[in-house]
Amino acid sequence: MSNYNWCHGPNCHTNQTTSRVRGSGDNKVLRTIKIKQGRYNYYDRGENNVSMWDYFCNQSCLMDFIRLHLTSIVAIAPRREALETPIKVEKEKYESYRYEYGSNYSNPQRVPYQATRTTIKSVDNDNG
Ligand SMILES: [Zn+2]
Repeated sequence: MSNYNWCHGPNCHTNQTTSRVRGSGDNKVLRTIKIKQGRYNYYDRGENNVSMWDYFCNQSCLMDFIRLHLTSIVAIAPRREALETPIKVEKEKYESYRYEYGSNYSNPQRVPYQATRTTIKSVDNDNG
């Protein structure tokens, strides 16, 4: 079972690569790339087992499509409020050192000081 898609990049057929040349003699054209679905074992398959690379031959075509249709794409799932992820912020003090040079650059002094380390920790939540 082999299914194909035409690349959805709006400018795909204008890229001057030999892989796009079709026709013979004086009737040659640059044609949109034909993509075999699942041509690689993509890492990005979503819930529906579909990859964006089943629809775009390369990143340039993907970005051209997004640029052209951005308003429509965003309208599919508009974000009207910020999302938030619960976290814990832990601050811990620890002994560290810095070098002070003073006037003698060839002999820096190692000086201890109290440093603070800030760590963001995940919080278990049921909101998934
Ligand atoms: Zn393309």
